[in-house]
Amino acid sequence: MSYIKLHDKTFNTYLSEEEIQQKVKGIADQLNLDYKDRRPLFVAILNGSFMFAADLFKYLTVDAEISFIKLASYKGMKASGNVITAIGLEMDLFDRDVVILEDIVDTGKTLHQFLPKLDHQQPKSLKIAALLHKPEATQYQLKIDYLGFSIPNKFVVGYGLDFDGLGRNYKEIYQLAAGS
Ligand code: 5GP
Ligand code: MG
Repeated sequence: MSYIKLHDKTFNTYLSEEEIQQKVKGIADQLNLDYKDRRPLFVAILNGSFMFAADLFKYLTVDAEISFIKLASYKGMKASGNVITAIGLEMDLFDRDVVILEDIVDTGKTLHQFLPKLDHQQPKSLKIAALLHKPEATQYQLKIDYLGFSIPNKFVVGYGLDFDGLGRNYKEIYQLAAGS
């Protein structure tokens, strides 16, 4: 399939299933080395990361745990902007080797705001694994410890990522077509 239509927009294939799987396996291979005998705790951020998290987890051979959370953003009282809270984070992170799983880092704002909340629980280590990163969109500097693909600053869908609710079910990643 070379293009898909979601709502009124057209998207072209950008990353194939094979390219994605190869990259996800590569990240898992590295994690298997880095977290040998450490029993890492993965924290996957819903909704977008569910497919990445599921595939990555299947490629892990180290003892590992996983927990899924949702981030809710609401306008705080202060002018400093939105406040981010985690829904569903029941695990105690104290003294754990934690790896955040994110579908895509765009401006970096979400993780930049959320990481201090996790750090507050004093994990032994805290790393970020992201499937996609748009370096040109960076507004908040973040260290992505495990990265799949650096991509141009264009809207993408598929493999868990949506456009207004649709497109998460595709095995490939698609890019918004020019003029769409
Ligand atoms: P950030 O806070 O880094 O600017 O944005 C992160 C979140 O914005 C991602 O987790 C994702 O939900 C959403 N996002 C950013 N870029 C894209 C994109 O190209 N496609 C989709 N579907 N979501 C995106
Ligand atoms: Mg997301």
